[in-house]
Amino acid sequence: MAKAEETVLEINLKALGHNYRYLRSKIKPETKFMAVVKAYAYGSDSIAIAKYLQDLGADYFAVAYVNEGVTLREGGITTPILVLHPQKVHFKTLIENNLEPSIYSATILSDFITTAKELGKADYPIHLKFNTGLNRLGFSADELLEIATRIQQQNTVKVIALLSHLAATEDANETDFTNLQLERFDAICKKADTLFKTETLKHVLNTSGIINYSHAQYDMVRSGIGLYGYGNEPHVDAELHPVMTLKTIISQKHTINAGESVGYNRKYTSDHKTVTATLPLGHADGIGREYGHGKTYVSIHGKLAPIIGNVCMDMIMVDVTNIDCEEGDEVEIFGNNISANEFAETAQTITYEILTGLSQRIKRVLTN
Ligand SMILES: *Cc1c(COP(=O)(O)O)cnc(C)c1O
Repeated sequence: MAKAEETVLEINLKALGHNYRYLRSKIKPETKFMAVVKAYAYGSDSIAIAKYLQDLGADYFAVAYVNEGVTLREGGITTPILVLHPQKVHFKTLIENNLEPSIYSATILSDFITTAKELGKADYPIHLKFNTGLNRLGFSADELLEIATRIQQQNTVKVIALLSHLAATEDANETDFTNLQLERFDAICKKADTLFKTETLKHVLNTSGIINYSHAQYDMVRSGIGLYGYGNEPHVDAELHPVMTLKTIISQKHTINAGESVGYNRKYTSDHKTVTATLPLGHADGIGREYGHGKTYVSIHGKLAPIIGNVCMDMIMVDVTNIDCEEGDEVEIFGNNISANEFAETAQTITYEILTGLSQRIKRVLTN
């Protein structure tokens, strides 16, 4: 890859292919794979990621919101797309773009049937989402009969899948709870099979579910974070390749004397002669203020440089006193030397947050 000349997020498609194949190797060949590409494919580039995975044979895509699905369709994605959290105001757009809604409440079901009917649809595919303990979205198990009856009375929509979402698949201390959620889901599926005339796909596992509960893979799994190279556990991280590398360059160096300060509100004060480097990215790019004050490091020529003082909107300053570097030299914020996971942990957060928070201002560059 060419040397960075500005702040760039490199997206390594070869790494994506590796991760896809690794995750697929953990499930049966006949199990369908739903690639979760919500939130710009976890901060990367949803069209580029979805195109690559579509070519590799991904069976389904998932997004959170309707506009994300529209972006994929406009980008040429023809694979089925599930919208995990659709809102009524966008139902018409959802249908016009041939997206499939995850229907999570009786109200949403009625609203969806109304819109689909207005558009003259028959047997429009929907997924029914059940709450098994996350307590976020979904029908409760005891609504099943009522929902099934409502669905039986019409032919505008057709239930093609049942899903639920697990709260703690990566947490070994919560296996009892996860097993309870899986038992609840299984009971819902069995009952639904007696109520619905047609067969439905069942899907419940996320990335850590694929790793830790693959016996519950049913007909399809839904993976996001693993595709991007992170497995929520060190032994899984070791098998995956990070897709995203955030790089920048040194804009300017300063040598400051003991007693001088750096940045807004003078939050770093030097007690010795210090060399600093100013980098062209800040909290407007997704590197929040929690990454400042010496807690987080970036990598310059393989050496670690702490981010000092307050993170600014468009810049951060790092301490390069012990690093032989020049203005224009490349800096890795996270990627191969410092994993996004390690980077996120310095600010007590998770990989999901740092990746999805990278702003659209950062240029995306595809590599292979
Ligand atoms: C985001 C999401 C996923 C993907 O989870 P990962 O941990 O990134 O694999 C799967 N299912 C639902 C319902 C989600 O919201």
